[in-house]
Amino acid sequence: MTEEKRPAVLVTGGAGYIGSHAVHALLDSGFPVVVVDNLVTGFRWAVADGATFVEGDIGNAALVGRVIAEHDIGAIMHFAGSVVVPESVSDPLKYYDNNTGRSRALIGAAIDGGVKHFIFSSTAATYGMPDVERVSEETPTVPINPYGRSKLMTEWMLRDAAAAHDINYGALRYFNVAGADPEGRTGQSTAGATHLIKVAVEAATGKRDHVAIFGTDYDTPDGTGVRDYIHVWDLVRAHVLALEKLIAEPEESFTLNCGYGRGFSVLEVLDAVDRATNRTIERRMAPRREGDPGIIVSNNAKILETLPWRPERDDLDTIVGDALAWERKLQERG
Ligand code: UDP
Repeated sequence: MTEEKRPAVLVTGGAGYIGSHAVHALLDSGFPVVVVDNLVTGFRWAVADGATFVEGDIGNAALVGRVIAEHDIGAIMHFAGSVVVPESVSDPLKYYDNNTGRSRALIGAAIDGGVKHFIFSSTAATYGMPDVERVSEETPTVPINPYGRSKLMTEWMLRDAAAAHDINYGALRYFNVAGADPEGRTGQSTAGATHLIKVAVEAATGKRDHVAIFGTDYDTPDGTGVRDYIHVWDLVRAHVLALEKLIAEPEESFTLNCGYGRGFSVLEVLDAVDRATNRTIERRMAPRREGDPGIIVSNNAKILETLPWRPERDDLDTIVGDALAWERKLQERG
């Protein structure tokens, strides 16, 4: 793509985990970037120097409209939102507000402002507990928690808005995102982590004294939960390629699974962390966590076919190594 064809991109949640990586990937590919983030869970320092930063809320359509006009925004990558599944069960309206209501406001501001392309950070949680070995985009979406429903509703809004207005979209359904920027520029930084690889590297670096294994009686090879862990850097590269496709084919929208099509168990992940440090994290058997499926692994045929994307950091030791390197850096800076 030639330089003059690269529109300015508004990245919501660009101070957060995945968004801050996407900002680097966009800048690396020559896209001008404006970040809007309310800094509730994100960090100002996580926003790359090359991006313009606006502190504010994406539910504020007047603010977003001003940003779109002032910076001649041609595309939006929408990462801002709430991401903790158990919290979505105890406080569902927060999720329908942050993930659905504010997305409604953002999509409206995008259409009013003439933004032509929209990439949405969706999730495998839209599938619920699918009874298939590999989840494809054709697998019915039957989310089992408010988090998954709040994201699926945004996919529906985008589908309907794209049919009615001059905008196309890519909904990217993430499997289990982990790791950190290979160059150490950003990583997962929000306190109170619940995701396995983050929790395990916190234990490996002494921030926690053990890792609880939530269930050892699943119908999986070693009895623990199996997930499709995708490196955040591969994930954000897929976003840039998806944006380039939306620009090249303005009549087309798409929904793509973002995973590697293979699973690792909790024990395999913990073994990888032990290998990386040459130490042994204390493991404590614990009951199943409510709402956890045994296995969720993607069928990623569609993304491989749709985008010129090939995984580059899919080795589990690479994912864990990058997560660990970032965790050490984070703890050094205190
Ligand atoms: N898990 C675990 N201990 C933890 C965190 C997670 O055993 O401290 C398990 C969880 O039950 C699941 C897998 O690790 O089988 C991935 O969970 P995570 O919370 O990372 O992502 P999820 O798949 O729930 O979105």
